[in-house]
Amino acid sequence: MAESPTPAALLAEAWEQCCLDPARAAAPARALAASGDALAPWGWWHLAFAQMRRGESAAAARALAQAEQGFRAADDRRGLQLALEVQAIGLRGDGRAAEALALQQRIEADAGAARAAIDLFIAHDARAATHAALGHADDALRHHHAARDAAEASGNTGARITALAGLGGFHLVLYNLDDALEMSQCAFVAARRARSPCNLLAAASDLILIHYALGEPQAAREVSGYLVSHPEELPPAALPRARTAIALGHLAAGEIDEAVAWLERDGDAPRPEHERVAFWAWLRTRCALARGDAAGARALAEKTLAERARQGHADGAFDLMELHRALADACERLGDAAAALACVRRAQQLYEQLVGRSARARRLALQIGLDLERAKRERDVAVVSQRAVEADRQRLAELNAALERQVAENEKLHARLVEQALRDPLTGLHNRRFLFEVGPGRLEHARRQGTPLAVALLDLDHFKLLNDTYGHQAGDLALQRFAAVLRAQVRQSDIVCRHGGEEFVILMPDIGGGEAAAVLERVLDVFQQLPPALAGRRRVPSCTFSAGIATLPGDGHTLEQLLSRADRALYRAKQHGRARVEQVPGTSFATLP
Ligand code: GH3
Ligand code: MG
Ligand code: MG
Repeated sequence: MAESPTPAALLAEAWEQCCLDPARAAAPARALAASGDALAPWGWWHLAFAQMRRGESAAAARALAQAEQGFRAADDRRGLQLALEVQAIGLRGDGRAAEALALQQRIEADAGAARAAIDLFIAHDARAATHAALGHADDALRHHHAARDAAEASGNTGARITALAGLGGFHLVLYNLDDALEMSQCAFVAARRARSPCNLLAAASDLILIHYALGEPQAAREVSGYLVSHPEELPPAALPRARTAIALGHLAAGEIDEAVAWLERDGDAPRPEHERVAFWAWLRTRCALARGDAAGARALAEKTLAERARQGHADGAFDLMELHRALADACERLGDAAAALACVRRAQQLYEQLVGRSARARRLALQIGLDLERAKRERDVAVVSQRAVEADRQRLAELNAALERQVAENEKLHARLVEQALRDPLTGLHNRRFLFEVGPGRLEHARRQGTPLAVALLDLDHFKLLNDTYGHQAGDLALQRFAAVLRAQVRQSDIVCRHGGEEFVILMPDIGGGEAAAVLERVLDVFQQLPPALAGRRRVPSCTFSAGIATLPGDGHTLEQLLSRADRALYRAKQHGRARVEQVPGTSFATLP
């Protein structure tokens, strides 16, 4: 029969496993706790530590209470201090990061005695997580570095891998991709060798994103493939939780169906408790785009951004940048250059923010005096990602140009529509609408200047007869010929409109009734003397018109009044035999011989 391990051996085993695999650490911890030995409180502590790391906070709290009781009885100050550390880890895990930080600061203030290296690792690792949760990037990075130093000094394999994975992951957050890649790769290899499921999962998930961000889609796909084909190396039921990382691997390799299948695994919605919502939405938007559904992609991205902004969530700059880039693509495909441009600009801002952070991360590493060589290396992420930023700039320029073209085209189209709306298609003259848009302004101008203005109403004589005799086409031709005569005979500054049917209006600034009548007489003369027109095979004789003239200010003040008076004068011209011009109040200018 094999001898059962001694309490000291159980404790050593618990320490060995505690950062490698909480599940494996729990077994010796339980045995030690049940041993009744003086070391039993350490069994409880390890059990609490393992359970806390696995998120089983209620069970962890019970074990922790047992540990504290034992430590207090034995006046074990180290034990009591580490018990508080676990308590702080629990607070942060419950989302109470500010309380966790307060507790950690209290521990720091009370810590008198020199601490073991592994204790320091636990403390710094926990503080790094707390500061990261509170958005204190510099403090988090300092503690990550310190945790790695302590882990190295401790010689504890699990601690070293955890520190490396943590630091690598944080460099990814800082967009310091170069360092992130190196550390996460080391952590990945070491985690596989030492069989550390949680570290393997963390490092692999980070690696997929790092490779993607560095423009290495095949490498991203390989890591993702490794996760899927080695579930036994991961924590229990870990794959569904890693679905976004795995989906990204597939997406990077252009395997859209697989990516969508992973994203929709356990429901087609992000799970904020262990997923980054903006990250999930970015992937989903990219998949929709890859499937040609630009409208769906745009709707999803816009909805997510609006909701996140409304709820005040602080999403990671990287996730937001990618989501904006995807949205820009969707808008561009839908022909909305303006929206695409706005999105690319926002993505650019976020990119610059990220690059700024990575530069800061390197400066900080220099200050700390760690990784001097690495920090000084010339090849930094700004250079690595230079291509991405250049591509964005290029795209910005193209979108700008596209936008300008679109604006110019719209303006042209608008001008054409306005012009069409204000012109008569048959004669090319302005129409009645134009007269009423522009006329009142001209009247007002004349009134202010104290200059005269004549309004003439012209009507073709016996036009119905012409239509009936020679056909509608001949009538149209007569209208066009009349319009041409009018344009040729009046001043450029006069406004000539087809008022409707065979009626025309001319607004003549700066001249009174007498001069206007003289102009119209000349027009009548020219029009009458036109040679007969040809409509089909028939010769259509020229015709005449009658006109009535009213003038500002004597005959009225508004366009309507002047037109009405001119109409009365016209009526009189018709009555007096047609082919003549009449003025208000009735001076007649017979023109026919
Ligand atoms: P009056 O000398 O009294 O003005 O007689 P009229 O025949 O000219 O007047 P009436 O108002 O009886 O007829 C006008 C005609 O103008 C009737 C209509 O068919 C014709 N007309 C109106 N618009 C157009 C058009 O765009 N093309 C053609 N061909 N005829 C038109
Ligand atoms: Mg008429
Ligand atoms: Mg007529």
